[in-house]
Amino acid sequence: MKKKKYILNLKEEMKHENFIQKSIKLPFESLELPKEYSNNGKDVDVNLYIIKDKEGYVVSIDINSDIKVECSRCLEPFNMDLSGSSSIVFSKKLGKNKELKEKDLDVEYLEDEENFNVNELVREEIIVQTPMKPLCDENCQGICPICGSNKNENKCNCEEEQKRENSPFAKLKHLLDKKNISKK
Ligand SMILES: [Zn+2]
Ligand SMILES: [Zn+2]
Repeated sequence: MKKKKYILNLKEEMKHENFIQKSIKLPFESLELPKEYSNNGKDVDVNLYIIKDKEGYVVSIDINSDIKVECSRCLEPFNMDLSGSSSIVFSKKLGKNKELKEKDLDVEYLEDEENFNVNELVREEIIVQTPMKPLCDENCQGICPICGSNKNENKCNCEEEQKRENSPFAKLKHLLDKKNISKK
């Protein structure tokens, strides 16, 4: 049951109305997000507002989800509250009109109005809303490039040591050492 898809038959739903509103909860697993994404088992809250128009449907989507992602600096997983909304035009005519697709990225081709896959829409929305480089904290210190320790937890002295090593004197010593090695 967890992987069940939420499919809307827009044609049927909008037989007598030009507007529908749905509040749904989707199990996180049902979204089949890339494996970098996880959460604590909470459902994703989705609000959908759909307006019918001549060529298709205007879909406004609101999502609210608690996701777990990896910090781009320290690589530790952390929970992030993800919420956002966007509007997408689903056009039935787009298949014939490629020019429109290139001009306006928020227009998508509506393949099958009787099987409108909400899971797919929410999946894309979560991916779009997730920052490219999530940070566990704005001041995250990240990982030491030298010893690999998480600098939020363990302040190492590698960088200071490296600075010392990069001093002119240390460089000279290094060169001399190298010379001695190659002579052997
Ligand atoms: Zn971090
Ligand atoms: Zn270090």
